[in-house]
Amino acid sequence: MATYDVSERSAIVTGAGSGIGRSIAMLLAANGASVIVNDLDGDHAAAVVDEIRAAGGTAEASVGDVTDSDWVEASVDAANALAPLRIAVNNAGIGGASAQVGDYPVDSWDAVIAVNLSSIFLGMRAQLPAIVANGGGSIVNIASILGSVGFASSSAYVSAKHGVVGLTKNAAIEYAPQGVRVNSVGPGFIKTPLIDANLDAETQEFLVGKHPIGRLGEPDEVAALVAFLASDAASFITGSYHLVDGGYTAV
Ligand code: NAP
Repeated sequence: MATYDVSERSAIVTGAGSGIGRSIAMLLAANGASVIVNDLDGDHAAAVVDEIRAAGGTAEASVGDVTDSDWVEASVDAANALAPLRIAVNNAGIGGASAQVGDYPVDSWDAVIAVNLSSIFLGMRAQLPAIVANGGGSIVNIASILGSVGFASSSAYVSAKHGVVGLTKNAAIEYAPQGVRVNSVGPGFIKTPLIDANLDAETQEFLVGKHPIGRLGEPDEVAALVAFLASDAASFITGSYHLVDGGYTAV
């Protein structure tokens, strides 16, 4: 387990009922943070909270939609009720339709931009002032390798993730003087329910070959990077985009 001290603070992790968000929530809690476990699905969020508590950590479930500004505001209050909010990991995301730009469904475009990009603006809009008020901290926004390269038939996802990388840089330069570091993380293809829901076995096998390490990543491998960036060990790192991609974008 990657160990980076994040004690005496709370952390909001969105989309933490599954996949990468679940691993991040578990690792931050194991490293001492009190974690708000957000998800759309109450059973999934409750299961992660149970796992954290069984391991001796502190967590509360917060069921809600990251595109809902009322939930966003409430999540900051819920975090501060546990311990001073000093970490937010904006992780919730969806895949969207698979189609070329000329055929891309407008409703899927709107949904992907709302969940994968606008929610991070809404989240940080509430999180940044709260973290400043608590003396500073760290925000990590989960982008993707598709925040720097394209992927055919995924224009909405690719556009949203490129937007996350830019939004992260802007928030970082605005809030560095106030003690908040803001970074984005770009995972390669990671074995999660999102991948299984969107990519068939043949496509996943093809994608294995695109990663020089020769396999897809594991959620815990992303969580290790996020835990580092969230902690004070990363005290001089802000505004940057950090890949955890098995070499995908080096080719
Ligand atoms: P996942 O297993 O599907 O988990 C995503 C979680 O987000 C789910 O629990 C989902 O809840 C939740 N969620 C979706 N929409 C939400 C909303 N509007 N409000 C609150 N929660 C919401 O996916 P993952 O693979 O771990 O992906 C996590 C993040 O990593 C995403 O931002 C994704 O784009 C990014 N990423 C993933 C990969 C990969 O290969 N897996 C690669 C690069 C980047 P429900 O299941 O209840 O709907």
